[in-house]
Amino acid sequence: MRNQGELTIQGWGPAPDGAQELSKAARRYLVRELGWTPRETPPVPLDEIRLKPSRLEPDVVARLTDLLGEENLSTEREARLKHAGGKSYLDLLRHRAGDASEAPDAVAAPGSTDETAALLALCGDLGVVVVPFGGGTSVVGGLTGSDPFDRPCITVDLRRMATITNVDVPSSLVTVGPGMRGPELEDSLGRQGLTLGHLPQSWEFATLGGYAATRSAGQASTGVGRFDDLVEGLTLATPSGVLELGHPPASAAGPDLLGLALGSEGTLGVITELTLRVRPKPRASVYEGWSFRSWAAGLAALQHLARHDLLADVVRLSDADETRANLLMASGTGARALRGTLRARGHGEGCLLVLGWEGLPTIVSARARAAASVLRDCGAIRLGSRVGESWRKHRFAAPYLRDTLMDRGLMVETLETAATWSALPTVYDAVRDELRQSLTRDGRRPLVMCHVSHGYATGASLYLTVVADRDDDLPMQQWLTAKRAATDALLAAGGTLTHHHAVGADHRPWLDREIGPLGVEVLRAVKQRLDPHGICNPGVLLPE
Ligand SMILES: Cc1cc2nc3c(=O)[nH]c(=O)nc-3n(C[C@H](O)[C@H](O)[C@H](O)COP(=O)(O)OP(=O)(O)OC[C@H]3O[C@@H](n4cnc5c(N)ncnc54)[C@H](O)[C@@H]3O)c2cc1C
Repeated sequence: MRNQGELTIQGWGPAPDGAQELSKAARRYLVRELGWTPRETPPVPLDEIRLKPSRLEPDVVARLTDLLGEENLSTEREARLKHAGGKSYLDLLRHRAGDASEAPDAVAAPGSTDETAALLALCGDLGVVVVPFGGGTSVVGGLTGSDPFDRPCITVDLRRMATITNVDVPSSLVTVGPGMRGPELEDSLGRQGLTLGHLPQSWEFATLGGYAATRSAGQASTGVGRFDDLVEGLTLATPSGVLELGHPPASAAGPDLLGLALGSEGTLGVITELTLRVRPKPRASVYEGWSFRSWAAGLAALQHLARHDLLADVVRLSDADETRANLLMASGTGARALRGTLRARGHGEGCLLVLGWEGLPTIVSARARAAASVLRDCGAIRLGSRVGESWRKHRFAAPYLRDTLMDRGLMVETLETAATWSALPTVYDAVRDELRQSLTRDGRRPLVMCHVSHGYATGASLYLTVVADRDDDLPMQQWLTAKRAATDALLAAGGTLTHHHAVGADHRPWLDREIGPLGVEVLRAVKQRLDPHGICNPGVLLPE
């Protein structure tokens, strides 16, 4: 799947290959599982979305236009709507109901680091809030922070800074603008036999600057590393000046300030350039499926692989609920045959594992062989490449399906965390119990599915998907209550507030539980130095 179009304000679709269709098998399964009454709940037409008039005074527009040029500043309805919020369930609920109250007053598109730095300094003087905008795929309210002083706000769209400025093949480094999307970068690198290999599910639309600002993780991050691991250097334009951070290949010159920019979510300024570590394009890839009798057996096997440094590049272990849902919602003879095989071998309520290896053919086959022997010792059954390749083919499809489910009266949202191998089972139980409890109403239960999405030597991340019959009267409250309970529970059990979605506006009330009140004060002090007027994405990351 490859979508090079624009995201719509009300969802992800339309899918390039019709992937958003809900199969009859899936519909039957969801009705049975959730007690769901399928119904039409379409979004309001785009022209009925409510948008407040821009609050930018004409003299402010004139100053900004003088700096950027008329074509690079827009107060038009269409531009403002396109930059309203991100793509969380709550964002989509609001936009589908016709509410775009968080839309910026204008959209600016600077073309260079110097222009961005000048724009930030000017906005500081004018008292205008600035929200950097990459692909607009934030799922944690990273683009919907509220300013305590209610000042006018502009979005800084990075689309004009989307070119590759240097490829240093001997050093495996590429220098690139923050507005570039993954597919464009991979196309260009591929022509030189290189790849970045960062593939989050939002890959079609998210940008490189957004990945750095949120500390993203991709589907192959177990192997190639998280996005933070791939950033060797970056330029951060702030209201107080420009910082050049990072020094490849390594440096011991004091604390690494690069880490301050990674995950800063637009609160310190705008990332205007990135130097990323790339690698040779893989010559071989093997994706395969395995099955375990239970979640505990699957976790134990991953732990063994991790201990022996044998985790694959892609590691996804689904729990029994996610496995059952995937198998029952898939139509076709292949899925039926697989269900039959698993039942016959006593894995009818088992857990599927997808592993993917990429690289040089000899290394790939040696790694896959070594892992297979550990997995067999742990009681796993090898299901072969069909299961792995099927996952690979459909790996960007789920967001399109979410639109369809929201059109039919369902709530669909995800949340994620990570914990050490010892804490992982407790975190898993705690978060699932809370989600189930808070989303059960009138005897109808939600579907709570979970998979391990990334493995580390010391632990793993958990990614949960929740589907429930929507409360049509109070849909926001329905999810907010569940999310609050689940977040409290996962923190109490030893999980992290977020493994890769970032903090945004949604998680900021809990940040002090993750880094402590002193940690929050340190971040505030840094922000005060770089952004003295507090114009950079206020209402995000730092607690009130
Ligand atoms: C369907 C779906 C699937 C997803 N799957 C994944 C996944 O697999 N892995 C994952 O890690 N995340 C995933 N996400 C979350 C999201 O895609 C990531 O957080 C991504 O890194 C955001 O990139 P973006 O360019 O869209 O940033 P935006 O959404 O535009 O911005 C995100 C935040 O970063 C700030 N920002 C953006 N660009 C800059 C910049 N140049 N300088 C400073 N600040 C900036 C913004 O102000 C905002 O606070 C998913 C989201 C969706 C909707």
